[in-house]
Amino acid sequence: MNDQREERQGYLGIIVHPRRWAVWKQPWRMTGYAIGWELVAAGAIIVAVVGSPAPHGLDWFRFASLAICATVHIQLSRRQEERRRSRQSTVHIDLTAIWVFPAVLVLPVQLALLVILIVRVQRWFTARRPLNRFIFSTASLSCAALLTHITIEAFGDLSMVELTGANSLRQFLVLALGGLVYLGTQVGIIGGFFALGNQSPTARTVLGSREDNELEAVTVALGMVTAILLANFPAALVIMIVVSVVGNRIAEVRQLQVDVRTDPKTGLLNMRGWREVAEREMNRASRDDVPCALLMVDLDHFKSINDTWGHPAGDDVLEYVSHALRSATRPSDVIGRFGGEEFVLLLPDADVEEAATAAERIRQTISELHVPTTDKRGGPVAISNRTTSIGVAVYPVHAATLDSLLQGADAAVYEAKEGGRNQVRLAA
Ligand code: GH3
Ligand code: MG
Ligand code: MG
Repeated sequence: MNDQREERQGYLGIIVHPRRWAVWKQPWRMTGYAIGWELVAAGAIIVAVVGSPAPHGLDWFRFASLAICATVHIQLSRRQEERRRSRQSTVHIDLTAIWVFPAVLVLPVQLALLVILIVRVQRWFTARRPLNRFIFSTASLSCAALLTHITIEAFGDLSMVELTGANSLRQFLVLALGGLVYLGTQVGIIGGFFALGNQSPTARTVLGSREDNELEAVTVALGMVTAILLANFPAALVIMIVVSVVGNRIAEVRQLQVDVRTDPKTGLLNMRGWREVAEREMNRASRDDVPCALLMVDLDHFKSINDTWGHPAGDDVLEYVSHALRSATRPSDVIGRFGGEEFVLLLPDADVEEAATAAERIRQTISELHVPTTDKRGGPVAISNRTTSIGVAVYPVHAATLDSLLQGADAAVYEAKEGGRNQVRLAA
């Protein structure tokens, strides 16, 4: 919530109010980690720039070409980036590697760093992310650029012109290695940051989603094409401008595909997304002849939270409950928001006993939640000791289809409510 408020304030509003800086809201170990890498980047940049030879005329021509192309791309895709960013809150891939990666490959190091600076400064005006995050990701990009540069140099000349069969294979392998170093360094540095901020880090929260990584890999591959064109046929860079701008649109469409399956308030699957995955798991269970459990979770007397402290407080409780559901389950469990204050979980491979244990664990975890939030006047309150009623139905014991499992679990929730709430009930 705070992050959203900050986004609305705009970048100037944030800079002039140090007390509102997002850096104070993250754990100190994350800040220390980020500052560590920022110092490494600053040191490496100084060493690299001091030790690097003065650029030639051709270097300046290539530098200008990349800087102009990047500027056109960024300015033509401003709107999309703004929309895309306002939807996403974690790792964010922009498509500027189409220009930055070739800069690292073909330019002397100081000009490559200048391209990064030009790109990042322009991005800052569309990004409006917390400044500390922005500086940290710029530092990680600079480290990746320098390490890639060193790797390429170590393998000798990468001219990408007048290629013969054997020669082109070798140069391509160097290019591919450069791409791996460039991607791997950034994933490693940023991943470490998210791992420190997460109590139970998963591959997805640390390394980013599969879609994001695919997108970044494709962008770097396009950056290789840009480098080859720049070395042989600079006028054709116009093609890459078109590709980059259209690529931004495609990235937005992919984001929308994720959005239609996601509940915006909790970040969990919505019913459309949940049903898709749940149907797949049910098919697998019947094919492999294994059990599969469905849990329906309904928060007790939720309306009284809204009535007493207001709807924003109710929303905060929903957010904390969704975290609790994630932390009390396995990564392979499918969690969705059924609607309102009801959640539905599919636990692949869980039999009746395991499902009852998991439901009890979830009930317990939610009851231990301590939700800091605000009352109707905006004053601070903490909400705790919330109880939950959970209904459990298991395939193939209680029902044979997803819909009948849902019905069974729903009826079991009703039984739990009738029985005095704060309990787990199995379907009949
Ligand atoms: P019970 O123990 O019987 O489940 O009582 P309850 O109050 O939890 O159930 P009821 O179905 O009567 O009320 C659910 C409430 O959840 C009503 C609605 O205002 C609230 N609610 C639904 N969606 C949201 C939401 O997104 N945010 C907030 N703050 N409240 C919501
Ligand atoms: Mg309900
Ligand atoms: Mg309820």
